[in-house]
Amino acid sequence: MTTHCPNRPSHFIFFIVIITLFDIVICISAKPINPLQTTLCKDQILPLEISKKIRTDPEAIAKASNDYGNIVHKIPTAGFYPSSIKDIIKLIEYSNNCSSTPFSIAARGQGHSVRGQAMAYKGVVVEMASLSRNGSGVRVSWSPSSGFYADVGGEELWIDVLRETLRHGVTPVSWTDYLYLTVGGTLSNAGISGQSFLHGPQISNVLELDVITGKGELITCSRKDESELFYAVLGGLGQFGIITRARIILAKAPTRAKWVRLLYSNFSIYTKDQEKFISSKVPNYVEGFLITNETIPDSWRSSFNSSSNQDHITLLLRKHGLLYAIELVKYYDDHDADTVNKVVEMLLKDMNFIPSLNFSADVSYFDFLTRVPRLEVQNTPQSPTHPWLNLFVPKSRILDLNAGVLVNLIPKINTELILLYPFNKDKWDERMSTVTPDEDIFYTLGLLHSSSPNETKIYDEVNNEILHFCRKTHIKIKQYLPYYKSKEDWIKHYGSKWDNFQEMKAKFDPRLILSPGQRIFN
Ligand code: FAD
Repeated sequence: MTTHCPNRPSHFIFFIVIITLFDIVICISAKPINPLQTTLCKDQILPLEISKKIRTDPEAIAKASNDYGNIVHKIPTAGFYPSSIKDIIKLIEYSNNCSSTPFSIAARGQGHSVRGQAMAYKGVVVEMASLSRNGSGVRVSWSPSSGFYADVGGEELWIDVLRETLRHGVTPVSWTDYLYLTVGGTLSNAGISGQSFLHGPQISNVLELDVITGKGELITCSRKDESELFYAVLGGLGQFGIITRARIILAKAPTRAKWVRLLYSNFSIYTKDQEKFISSKVPNYVEGFLITNETIPDSWRSSFNSSSNQDHITLLLRKHGLLYAIELVKYYDDHDADTVNKVVEMLLKDMNFIPSLNFSADVSYFDFLTRVPRLEVQNTPQSPTHPWLNLFVPKSRILDLNAGVLVNLIPKINTELILLYPFNKDKWDERMSTVTPDEDIFYTLGLLHSSSPNETKIYDEVNNEILHFCRKTHIKIKQYLPYYKSKEDWIKHYGSKWDNFQEMKAKFDPRLILSPGQRIFN
């Protein structure tokens, strides 16, 4: 509010009183200019509904400028704490109404990105978690055409989707390894795990979406209606709209999981067995990981490695430098409890793992899916960083990648978890935005580095070495959870999908407001 009102000459007392009263009225009635308005959009008055839900305090700014990676920190003007979908629409409309440059807006799920993808420099970060649905965030239904499905808020965590659907005896079929991620966040990437070979990634298991586009329109889309938006948003890195509801396919929930781990020292045999498992379609889950000296003692998922086998594994590691593990699971419940062991036995019969090193456990379905406990995310300057690299690698070149770079590089680094497992391409829908290699089978390689802040560079160099090797030897990898520094790299990444990606951006977010942290258009 303006506080300085002009002084007046003092000839006639009456005149002075009238003038002063007049000034006071003017001063009081002048519309206060919210300082935020000046920063966000000078030419439009900040609507009260928005300003009430905006926070600029240090805690809100710190949250919005941090993520799991703890590497990139982009300071926004404000954090936005919506209590309804309408609030988000109003915010996007406000940005669009600016005749000057609109301010950018990023939806932030849990901020589990690793390179600032959910940040908005000088813009507004929408804290999706603040959308309160009064308990209706996950709703299970059934219809003759779709069977069981769940309508789920984009801000919901997958762990809550699991809990709620299990209460009805049903479950989503495709998961991530870690369930404290949001539905909107994983659907903006793909959502992959050991079930993807069988059911496709999470994006392949969506029937319908509600999306607020970059123009502020709330649109319901599916394969049949508004299909352009539906396909663009799935795997769309938040570029086209904010997902506020997803309708997820469900199936009858099993109750138990027979969980097996097999070890290999020969990479070629290892990948052959992985491919046999995923083509058999008998297991419900197939993953794999690399074992180095760093990962033997206590990886985050080595919950049932018997310690008596550690010496044997250490000896093998000394000999080979690197070992490979397959992890597979067969679900079951009361009606097939008698036969599950036989099924697993048959499955392993023709496989070529090291015979003395196979481990198994029998756990509840819930315990299996929640095997990765909630991680505490720390964001002080001293906290660990996570310079992850995730790649999709065509099957035809996986041996080259191993021989050319993994065998030499991996044993030298301190990375606790390196995932490697295959997918069937026919379970991915090419019309969706996620890009994958052009082969029937491709692998995901996930280097989930954890580093001290002053060693992040070392891991970045390792990542660059792998990327450089792929470029040099023409291995046509695609990054998953991609991070690029130049537009040319994004164009290469999207390849033949780029024109459509750009067209969809022009159609649904023409003023380039959404998800600037991905650094594609901004
Ligand atoms: P954020 O990081 O907050 O957002 C990611 C992107 O999506 C941003 O661009 C953001 O603007 C956008 N976005 C967020 N919400 C919405 C929305 N509602 N609508 C539109 N856009 C939105 N991924 C897997 O596939 N499989 C795994 O097993 C897996 N495990 C992980 C384990 C850990 C410990 C971590 C840290 C990550 C893991 N991820 C995995 C990666 C994860 O899928 C991504 O980090 C993803 O971004 C989800 O995180 P989030 O929900 O916090 O989204």
